[in-house]
Amino acid sequence: MTETTAPPRPDTAPSDVPTFRHFIAGEWMASVGGRTFDSRNPADSRDVVGRFQQGTAADVAMAIKAAETALPMWKRTPAPKRGEILYAFGALMVQHKERLARAMTREMGKVLAEARGDVQEGIDIAFLMAGEGRRMAGETVPSELPDKWAMSIRQPIGIAGIITPWNFPMAIPCWKIMPALVTGNTVVFKPASDTPHCATLLVELMAEAGVPPGVVNLVTGTGAEVGDAIVESPDVNVISFTGSSATGKSIAVKAGGRLKRLSLELGGKNGVVVLADADLELATDGILWSAFGTTGQRCTAASRVIVEQPAVEPLLQRLESRAKRLRLGDGLLDSTDVGPLINAAAVDKVDSYIDIGRSEGDLVTGGGRARDGDLAHGNFFEPTIFAGVGPMDRIGQEEIFGPVLSVIPVADYGAAMLALNQTRYGLSSSIFTRDVNTAFRAMRDFETGIVYVNAGTTGAEVHLPFGGWKETGNGHREAGHVALDTYTEWKSIYVDFSGRLQRAQIDNQ
Ligand code: NDP
Repeated sequence: MTETTAPPRPDTAPSDVPTFRHFIAGEWMASVGGRTFDSRNPADSRDVVGRFQQGTAADVAMAIKAAETALPMWKRTPAPKRGEILYAFGALMVQHKERLARAMTREMGKVLAEARGDVQEGIDIAFLMAGEGRRMAGETVPSELPDKWAMSIRQPIGIAGIITPWNFPMAIPCWKIMPALVTGNTVVFKPASDTPHCATLLVELMAEAGVPPGVVNLVTGTGAEVGDAIVESPDVNVISFTGSSATGKSIAVKAGGRLKRLSLELGGKNGVVVLADADLELATDGILWSAFGTTGQRCTAASRVIVEQPAVEPLLQRLESRAKRLRLGDGLLDSTDVGPLINAAAVDKVDSYIDIGRSEGDLVTGGGRARDGDLAHGNFFEPTIFAGVGPMDRIGQEEIFGPVLSVIPVADYGAAMLALNQTRYGLSSSIFTRDVNTAFRAMRDFETGIVYVNAGTTGAEVHLPFGGWKETGNGHREAGHVALDTYTEWKSIYVDFSGRLQRAQIDNQ
């Protein structure tokens, strides 16, 4: 493989804020527009993580050109060899896991243990997809005619545009870039503007692992400018996007106009059902972890708990007393249970739902911004629980993407199942029950891409498909071997070795 340039050494600006650059054609370079933006620590906005390039459509055009130039070489590189490079990348992530996790907590706020988990998901998908380099199975099937061979193979689509959110700033890019690369595509990657440093660290390691110049290109900057230029380019053949439903829908319109392959992973409003026979201590553990982990900013976060009537009071007591004890703070501190929200706009959004919640249900705990002591410098919000919420109430329906949990009382399993399915989203769900028959009914009935039994709504593993029903996506899946479908075209091949004309559907009748 051709050598790439050394990782970027940040240019230290006079203000001591390190400046980072785009990565295009194996070179770290400044934006042609000459503008930059800062990424700040959400636990303490005085802490500037770095200065990043405010990309332009011209930068995107250069990145696409680089991806186009590298494509013939990369798609001809044997897939097992591509897999070895992914393996080397995964091994580097293992080596640098602690450094990556700490950088992630500093840039987006999740507590360190969860940041380590985010890095680990990246490692897991790198190793899974490295193995796909030696699998990538097609089919070999019998022909309906004698002396004829029939099989199908996967081939790369071309250039993959990868647009990612900030909440899993290493796992999600890896979920997309690893299958794109192993199948022989080249990549133009635009990370969220809240987490450009995490993206830069990943791309540094990809270059170090031996990803050749032009195969992965990183352009930082806004969705409106950089993201849109990627989506609108006729030379980008597939877009993989994770983010809000509103952005996803606008991208779908543009990509649809160009008949471009598009994989969307969008919003969620995930429910936990707790039946009267459930282990309530276990349910409390699972609900708190799912609702307040990553400060409620996971796409799989639990934000609705649908509880069979006899369990409502005992469950609420447990949830309230445990939620009150959760300690807010900088995710790098051992004492912290819940980190900050990503930015001030997110705090405003969560806050706007508190009045709505008060009018629809009963505030049990939380409900306010947290500003005591050092918290005043960050985007902190108290873990919040509302009781007595109706399944169709706004706080029970709309994605708040913060630490707000609605408890919805119901009469029985049937009503719980209806309430659970009464949302426009369909990502994750769970049920707590000791009755094996009811557990199987839930597995059959819940209209979500992921169902958990006696666990919260989070905890997906990379070797099964990940994604949602209904408005959570557009039917594609990430992770698992099915992730390859997004980045490949199928080619069916027939080899006739009879030495004569054989007509399918005619000569064999
Ligand atoms: P956004 O949709 O705002 O942003 C996601 C990405 O899209 C960012 O990189 C953003 O850039 C970019 N973007 C914004 N506008 C455009 C545009 N017009 N064209 C192209 N790209 C654009 O979502 P958030 O970052 O706020 O992420 C939170 C959302 O993501 C939640 O709704 C959550 O449910 C969802 N999500 C879903 C997951 C799933 O698997 N289903 C997983 C994780 C999150 P910029 O940052 O510069 O604005």
